Amino acid sequence: MHIQPEVSLKPHNTFGIDVKAQQFVEVHQLSDLQTLLKEQQQNPTPLLILGGGSNVLFTRDFEGLVAKIKLKGIRLLREDDSNVWLEAAAGEVWHDLVMHCVQKGYGGIENLSLIPGTVGAAPMQNIGAYGVEIKQVLETVQAVERSTGVLKVFTNEECKFGYRESVFKNIYKDQFVITGITLKLSKKPTFNTSYGAIQEVLQTNQVKELSIQAISDAVCQIRSSKLPDPAKIGNAGSFFKNPTIPFTQFEQLKQAFPHIVGYPVANSQVKVPAGWLIEQSGWKGKRFGHIGVHSRQALVLVNYGGGEGSQIRQLSADIQQSVLQKFGIAIQPEINII
Ligand SMILES: Cc1cc2nc3c(=O)[nH]c(=O)nc-3n(C[C@H](O)[C@H](O)[C@H](O)COP(=O)(O)OP(=O)(O)OC[C@H]3O[C@@H](n4cnc5c(N)ncnc54)[C@H](O)[C@@H]3O)c2cc1C
Repeated sequence: MHIQPEVSLKPHNTFGIDVKAQQFVEVHQLSDLQTLLKEQQQNPTPLLILGGGSNVLFTRDFEGLVAKIKLKGIRLLREDDSNVWLEAAAGEVWHDLVMHCVQKGYGGIENLSLIPGTVGAAPMQNIGAYGVEIKQVLETVQAVERSTGVLKVFTNEECKFGYRESVFKNIYKDQFVITGITLKLSKKPTFNTSYGAIQEVLQTNQVKELSIQAISDAVCQIRSSKLPDPAKIGNAGSFFKNPTIPFTQFEQLKQAFPHIVGYPVANSQVKVPAGWLIEQSGWKGKRFGHIGVHSRQALVLVNYGGGEGSQIRQLSADIQQSVLQKFGIAIQPEINII
């Protein structure tokens, strides 16, 4: 393990924010992680666990140790006629795991193609896209407790997954380092084409017979055309979560804003697209020096280059305030602000 002093985090976050870590280390082995955590117990310093940096906003230099998880490996644990159980290490690139499964014909995560970041961060916020969330195929999460170095296994139920939520993001925040996950995937998949955009692309691509590959290709096509590429323009995908409001409030808002969009969810609640609220509040495409709101996706805040995290945090606060004023809806960041 090579701990380096004063390392720029610019290449390690997709916003491209240029802050420094007082110390930086890449963790390639489980035993190294356990050694690191033991040293932390004797010599406590702030510790930040990082994957691909695609869901973080750095607002200042990190006065402590940033440990980038690089544990690798994808392993078939067992299989029967219908399913496979696959274990993947936390440092694997998520999309590489999806591609592995697509090539092998294991169904279940093809709708999650091209989501940036690592396998280890995927359960953190229960990644989801195009009608699928990781919780639907996740069997267990393996994680090391930061205070003891002990490896624990969490069942799906114990992860308490919700919309962009898990125990690792709330009650166990900063208490565990995820080292791997186990997925139960299907050899006889049922395809999820509930999103209109997928159906349209399948039609354009003249797909006659649905397959894992065809859906993955469609999702990649949609995502590449819709979302800004962090390699070209700094961003971390959706900055805010889509809020849910009571059905009664939605009905009232419909009187004032007849075009408001909403999707019924459980418990008489309605999910409202945060992007729509932000756009209607006049933020779409607004640029403020080095930062701004993307011109095609109001939900995506961007760093055109040279922007600071604190400026993006201020912009996000201004957006929250104006959406609250106009619609009476409090939108919350999906991003981890550090
Ligand atoms: C263009 C773009 C599109 C996106 N689209 C989607 C989407 O469709 N759906 C979606 O859900 N997300 C999306 N995201 C967000 C992001 O890709 C996911 O949240 C992803 O899982 C983050 O992975 P990461 O490795 O980059 O995590 P990081 O940003 O490195 O970390 C995120 C959080 O998890 C913690 N963490 C990371 N690894 C570990 C670990 N091994 N153990 C413990 N804690 C850890 C970090 O401390 C941090 O708090 C998008 C992002 C971008 C840039």
